[in-house]
Amino acid sequence: MQEILDDIAEVMSTATERGQVADYIPELAAVNPNQFAISVALPNGQTYSSGCAQQLFSIQSISKVFSLTLALGKLGDAVWNKVGREPSGDPFNSIVQLEHEQGKPRNPFINAGAIAIVDAIMMGHEPKELLAEILQFVRFIANDNSIAIDEKVALSELATGHRNTALASFMASFGRIEHEIPQVLGTYYHQCSISMSCEQLARSGLFLVSDGVNKSTGIRVVSSRRARRINSLMLMCGHYDGSGEFAYRVGLPGKSGVGGGILAIAPNKASIAVWSPGLDKIGNSKLGTVALEMLVQRTGWSIF
Ligand code: GLN
Repeated sequence: MQEILDDIAEVMSTATERGQVADYIPELAAVNPNQFAISVALPNGQTYSSGCAQQLFSIQSISKVFSLTLALGKLGDAVWNKVGREPSGDPFNSIVQLEHEQGKPRNPFINAGAIAIVDAIMMGHEPKELLAEILQFVRFIANDNSIAIDEKVALSELATGHRNTALASFMASFGRIEHEIPQVLGTYYHQCSISMSCEQLARSGLFLVSDGVNKSTGIRVVSSRRARRINSLMLMCGHYDGSGEFAYRVGLPGKSGVGGGILAIAPNKASIAVWSPGLDKIGNSKLGTVALEMLVQRTGWSIF
């Protein structure tokens, strides 16, 4: 495994087409595009890495997997009254479907859906309390109490989030948002601003590898049925309007973020995190996808 990861990192270090880093906030625009990391966490607790796998980055939309998991724990199937579970075929921050579908987001991984999920799990609590719960959950599944939120990123998101404000307001116009919009969005932005390294991120996905149990700690996080369903949503919706392409090329459930990270799950095999900040036109890590494609070719881990 170490040899495979080193080979991949070596190829990535010479890649010239690295995509464009997200530039909607200065904190992401300033990230050096020449970085690359990959980590593979195995259920037996071993982790293999190559590249700058300790380097922290903004997990952004990968956090939507964790908030969905929390929401399913709190609300069970009632989550599906709030959001659908169909691919959108539209960009992550698109508003067009919302009008046709009476303000109900297609799935929990597009921005509108993730904002609706935050609203659903707020349940009258203060944003601070919910945030503490989300962060605590991420620390728990990654088995790492050092994971934290980058406040600067969150404040920049807040200052530039006009489109997310529009999405939340539009859903509210259909009576679909129960809490004050600034509180919901403030929580959403902080959730997106969690910083993690590839190693931490790979470990955080272990519960999705082994039917809901993190075998490295022996702790059951969700039922096996729920783990399967979260994986299926990641496969169908985790890369927005690039989900079909990702399934075609990589063949694993995966969730991307505009920080350049991707969490991918090879069921019964491994949890994989890749990071390279340059994005393709859809907003998914360009080299991260190439690296996963190479890993799957070498390991035969595609689910197909
Ligand atoms: N914070 C980003 C946003 O709301 C997350 C988007 C993403 O990672 N795709 O626009």
